[in-house]
Amino acid sequence: MQVDDHAEELASDLGVDKEEVKRDLQNLLQYSVPIEEAKQSVRRKHGGGSSGSAAPSTKDVAEITPESGNVTVTARVLTVGRRSIRYQGEERVIREGELADPTGKISYTAWQDFGFEPGDSITVGNASVREWDGEPELNLGESTSVAMESDPVEVEYPVGGDSTLLDLEPGDRGRNVEVRVLEVERRTIDGRDGETEILSGVVADGTARLPFTDWNPHDEVTEGADLRLEGVYVREFRGVPSVNLSEFTTVTPLSEPVDVRESAPRLSVAEAVGSGGMFDVELVGNVLEVRDGSGLIERCPECGRVIQNGQCRSHGAVEGEDDLRVKAIFDDGTDTVTVVLDADLTEEVYGGTLSEAKEAAREAMDKEVVTDDIAETIVGREFRVRGNLSVDEYGANLDTTEFEESDEDAAERAGELLAAVGDREVGA
Ligand SMILES: [Zn+2]
Repeated sequence: MQVDDHAEELASDLGVDKEEVKRDLQNLLQYSVPIEEAKQSVRRKHGGGSSGSAAPSTKDVAEITPESGNVTVTARVLTVGRRSIRYQGEERVIREGELADPTGKISYTAWQDFGFEPGDSITVGNASVREWDGEPELNLGESTSVAMESDPVEVEYPVGGDSTLLDLEPGDRGRNVEVRVLEVERRTIDGRDGETEILSGVVADGTARLPFTDWNPHDEVTEGADLRLEGVYVREFRGVPSVNLSEFTTVTPLSEPVDVRESAPRLSVAEAVGSGGMFDVELVGNVLEVRDGSGLIERCPECGRVIQNGQCRSHGAVEGEDDLRVKAIFDDGTDTVTVVLDADLTEEVYGGTLSEAKEAAREAMDKEVVTDDIAETIVGREFRVRGNLSVDEYGANLDTTEFEESDEDAAERAGELLAAVGDREVGA
């Protein structure tokens, strides 16, 4: 339903002007207040009492759907994550996580502190159900009651939120991980209260590596530190899960070093692309073609984008800065991906520096000589590549961190593959 429809429904229920109701609703929605909560708030403002819908029904977790209305459910608290949001102009701490019973688990958002902790068994009375990302989610608001149960609710899910990095999925909250900080960088961003400092980088454990952001820099987060992070949440960043630390995250140095996975999981291109994006993955395949925009390129000095004819899409006419890059089509017989090599890796495959590339282009009076040279070196040969894969509407791109000729019988596999490609008539 659109805001307009909600406003219409509310206005007719409450017998007040629709435009006024719509203004109130929009005002709340711009602060990310969920629609059901916003409607209740507007109802109260106009003297309409609580949600007005029928009495809550008692349900098992597995029975709850986005259409369940208001429900009462007895469940075990799995996780409690805290997050601060701005609500009607004020900072407000909400609690989010998962509840479970023997039939399943469900996410919740609590708009006030009901005092429950992970492991508690509780009966949540009169929670509204909303839809979030296609799934039902419990909304614990002012009209919700929470009662502690003395008999524990038995569940098959781990209580407390301890996770490995590999297990984390976008949308997870209140998770705890034990990691080593591999890379960290301090950055200044434009936050909602003006310029603010954050930390970003890479963390690893024995199962995976993931990017992280610390929105409220903790002193303990330094390169090489082994840390237990309690109360992180997970977002999607360029197609991969990213670990987020907030002011509510507890950071504790560990006395034992964290076992860090050194190698990346090796997948077929089809598997990797099918996963929707991976932070660190290894692929083995052949370079079919070096794409346009490879070799000696120019970047906008303002934003770093590759520019054409001295024109940046965002900044207009600029004095371009020379750089080296390779964008190559990479195929392992299951699917293709564009591998992107940065200046350092490009210098390696080119066998020369940026200034040597510029000199060669000047002599030939043609930048293409650099691209041709690179293509001669890598097209038709087999490589082991490692990097961060993102998949979006423009295709699959691997931001490459390692690019090495494969020592697995390269010539033979390349021959087979190029023959297969010839049959498929993939043009250059
Ligand atoms: Zn620019």
